[in-house]
Amino acid sequence: MATNAELFERASRSIPGGVNSPVRAFRSVGGTPRFIARAVGPYVWDAEGKRYIDYVGSWGPAILGHAHPDVVRAVQEAAVHGLSFGAPTEAEIELAELLIQRLPSMEQVRLVSSGTEATMTAIRLARGATGRKKIIKFEGCYHGHADSLLVKAGSGLLTFGNPTSAGVPAEFVEHTLVLDYNDLDGVGAAFEEYGEDIACIIVEPVAGNMNLVKPRAGFLEGLRELCTRHGALLIFDEVMTGFRVGPQGVQGLTGIKPDLTTLAKVIGGGMPVGAFGGSADVMRHIAPLGGVYQAGTLSGNPVAVAAGLATMRLIAAPGFYEHLTAQTRKLAEGLQSRARAAGLAFSADAIGGMFGMYFSAHVPASLAEVSAADVNAFKHFFHAMLDRGVHFAPSAFEAGFVSATHDDAVIEETLDAAEAVFKDMKQVPEIGA
Ligand SMILES: *Cc1c(COP(=O)(O)O)cnc(C)c1O
Repeated sequence: MATNAELFERASRSIPGGVNSPVRAFRSVGGTPRFIARAVGPYVWDAEGKRYIDYVGSWGPAILGHAHPDVVRAVQEAAVHGLSFGAPTEAEIELAELLIQRLPSMEQVRLVSSGTEATMTAIRLARGATGRKKIIKFEGCYHGHADSLLVKAGSGLLTFGNPTSAGVPAEFVEHTLVLDYNDLDGVGAAFEEYGEDIACIIVEPVAGNMNLVKPRAGFLEGLRELCTRHGALLIFDEVMTGFRVGPQGVQGLTGIKPDLTTLAKVIGGGMPVGAFGGSADVMRHIAPLGGVYQAGTLSGNPVAVAAGLATMRLIAAPGFYEHLTAQTRKLAEGLQSRARAAGLAFSADAIGGMFGMYFSAHVPASLAEVSAADVNAFKHFFHAMLDRGVHFAPSAFEAGFVSATHDDAVIEETLDAAEAVFKDMKQVPEIGA
């Protein structure tokens, strides 16, 4: 039996960094990634046969727990009838209808194969539909790895961003304005300066890619108002939050109607499905109806759509989100009370089935505040929990995910482990406290 370390060594010879997506490499916490052999419900088992309670959940899709029997069966049944046709299927209509029915802001939806494709195309569509060039994104929000979105704030206020990736020419991001999350004044100033040129705002309506950061009261409402006033489109990137925080995503919780919504993760139930949608008036700009081009060989793939449909049907069960929300809150509150009892500066927050934990006295509201938390304390906590069989995301800048199979016993086991780890941790003075 190969160990995790042996597999990592071997993987690193044939795959850059040994992984097919960078955060999996454990670079920000150090140590050896666990190579997963199988997963059921709230658990994953690594190549060495060790079991972990899993709070990564494939970074969001595993809302029903891993390998839900109905989802597995749907995939098996679909696979028997052929893996891909490159022609339309009835199941795609069913998934599209289901998504539209759940999210009243969408009259039409196009299926793609990833969140990156969904956001990249939503931006292109916003530009095509408005005839404008500039876009606004927020520091710390992640919208996939399209060139124009791999950007961080420039040095001055209201300057266009700098690429965060080699291989992205500065010219490719010169139309991307990067502002602070939860800073509505900054957005107002941007519209004052560039209003006529701004095609869209793209925002994670609850941010889950800089740990968990919630919008302040009035922030999303303000974005809606500014977009409407200036003729720009508001894009809610609900790739993570869609069907994760509640039955209608953040738009359902807030009642705010975006012009475009991007989805992925939960809607594929662990298979590659993404989507973007909005009003029929905006969606008519997409090919073959309109001049904004988008296509995909495996878009609407029958096996992936089967997993998505089965998942979407199961999460529509009465009480599903009440249970998920309660379990996630038990975890977050339990972690916070045990850490504080141990004398640590620690906070936790939750919404629906996602949670954040921060080695800081307060729940942060921006990337700068998240970055001020104690990363070394997180690293220690992460590894001590991993040793005890609890797998959190290997980064202090990622949200955590609870599934419907994280029952009371699983949460209790997690909290018992955390209590022991917290007691062992020396209080490190909080940076920026
Ligand atoms: C994960 C994520 C993406 C990218 O989705 P992929 O399927 O990984 O390409 C985009 N936006 C948000 C908010 C995400 O969480």
